[in-house]
Amino acid sequence: MKPVEFSYSRPATVAAAVRLLKDNSGAKIVAGGQSLGPMLNLRLAQPNQLIDVTAIPELTRFREEPDAIVYGACITHASFEDGRLPDAANGFLRSVAGGIAYRAVRNRGTIGGSLVHADPAADWMTTLTALGAELIVATEKGERRTELAGFMTTPFGVALDDAEFLVGIRIRKFSQKARFGYFKFCRKVGEFAEAMAAVVVDPELRICRGVIGATDSSPLIVGDINAFMPAATASAAVEEALERGREHVAGLRVSNDPIKNAMHGNAFARALRQVMQ
Ligand SMILES: Cc1cc2nc3c(=O)[nH]c(=O)nc-3n(C[C@H](O)[C@H](O)[C@H](O)COP(=O)(O)OP(=O)(O)OC[C@H]3O[C@@H](n4cnc5c(N)ncnc54)[C@H](O)[C@@H]3O)c2cc1C
Repeated sequence: MKPVEFSYSRPATVAAAVRLLKDNSGAKIVAGGQSLGPMLNLRLAQPNQLIDVTAIPELTRFREEPDAIVYGACITHASFEDGRLPDAANGFLRSVAGGIAYRAVRNRGTIGGSLVHADPAADWMTTLTALGAELIVATEKGERRTELAGFMTTPFGVALDDAEFLVGIRIRKFSQKARFGYFKFCRKVGEFAEAMAAVVVDPELRICRGVIGATDSSPLIVGDINAFMPAATASAAVEEALERGREHVAGLRVSNDPIKNAMHGNAFARALRQVMQ
């Protein structure tokens, strides 16, 4: 099948892109095209205009704030993987990026495109929710900021209005004491995950958060994961704490499939183990 006919624009400024979106409710943003391309070909998306935002300079750059880094929405997975940017999470972003799909997809696919596409099994959606990322959204009235947690409203649905698009992702700088864990079950390397979990512990920033992804819906935040930290460093205490974590998450029934629920429990325990090491 071929896409429906559409026109193509490549604005150079955020304001011009917002204007184009406002003037045409049938338009759609395109960034790396890695998810939208197949959707066009299958006619799951039928825009009459594509607005390519990759020529807007601030969307492909990062900027540092005293306590955070703001990454442009069009930064590719490969740029993170190759360490071309400072890593607000001490190398965690780089390792997550390197596990997304295949290199060819990572060369074109963008962090912003991944978040807005909102596939429940996407790596950035789960890991950046665990990091407590904030989104910067361009609107007709200027920028607005919103938490990533809650941005995904349904599988493949996000809280963006018609004339809005994502310009940046703000990630706080984690301390040197921060620990990060991430585990996903995939049938083979490069496939979307069937179950995944991310865990972030930063004693200096008082962050202790777990997130379950690849659910039947939005990522699920596992409240206070201190409950699953071992009381002692002895291996029996560690194994007992991991078992508690595994059972807790499996019991949350994030999926209708009991096997997947068991996999989520195991993914969580494996991510937890990484922060304990
Ligand atoms: C074979 C294959 C395997 C993959 N495996 C994985 C995987 O294992 N893990 C994973 O996480 N991902 C995977 N992906 C998805 C990949 O990461 C895509 O890069 C990503 O989902 C979309 O990014 P993009 O820049 O290509 O967005 P596009 O395809 O250009 O756009 C996707 C959607 O987001 C919208 N959009 C894009 N940018 C913006 C913006 N700035 N503001 C508002 N809306 C925007 C578009 O309108 C569209 O609806 C895979 C993709 C392929 C083709």
